[in-house]
Amino acid sequence: KDELLQKTEKLRLVGELAAGIAHEVRNPLTTVKGFIQLLQREIDPHVCKLMLQEMDRIAKIVDEFLFLAKPKPVNRLAVQSVSALTRQVTDLLLPEAILHNVQLVCETEDFPFVCDANQIKQVLINLIKNAIEAMPIGGIVKIRSYQYNETLFALEIIDGGVGIAPDRLDRLGEPFFSQKEKGIGLGLMICFKIIENHRGRLQIDSELGQGTKATIYLPIAQPADGQTGSSG
Ligand code: ADP
Ligand code: MG
Repeated sequence: KDELLQKTEKLRLVGELAAGIAHEVRNPLTTVKGFIQLLQREIDPHVCKLMLQEMDRIAKIVDEFLFLAKPKPVNRLAVQSVSALTRQVTDLLLPEAILHNVQLVCETEDFPFVCDANQIKQVLINLIKNAIEAMPIGGIVKIRSYQYNETLFALEIIDGGVGIAPDRLDRLGEPFFSQKEKGIGLGLMICFKIIENHRGRLQIDSELGQGTKATIYLPIAQPADGQTGSSG
């Protein structure tokens, strides 16, 4: 018991420290980015583009790391519609899908559920992006929802992509566990965390060379949970 307490306290301290560092890195980063933009005309445009891209990459890592180190509490809770939320995300990702020759097919049965809409959107964006990125020559990403049991609904994101080897499947959600050239490997970790914070479960099933299915299980809203909130 003592050991567990100590471990929790240690984790908390590491989290605080990491969050502090992440905050401190953000400001100089913004400054340097500003300078690079100012110098745009005087340096090789290709070099300039690369520098800005790398700065964005640092910013993204810092942001995602900050979220992990200090996960935002689930706030701004409201009753949302699964179909509406999914639609918002697929609309957002449409250009990305088209770029990758991917068709997003939604077959959602609607359920009301209580969530922090921005956080759930972040999860869906991460999962659908992973699905798109798993299909190098394009294909179909299917998104469907159905009632799983008395209290839970399931939301599935299915791709026919490269799949994940069994030994890697067990390690999904570990930080910086990425197989992509430009990947960061924090996306799934954040997804697991957010869904857990919403009293749900995220499961990834995959077969190498066949495709991957990500399933989110979340509680269906009960009548006492109140009115549908506007999302955003
Ligand atoms: P990133 O996308 O930055 O690599 P993620 O945490 O989102 O980080 O994913 C971690 C790794 O899990 C990916 O690099 C990839 O190898 C594997 N992965 C995740 N989703 C899929 C998927 N739908 N199909 C195949 N591999 C996947
Ligand atoms: Mg990802």
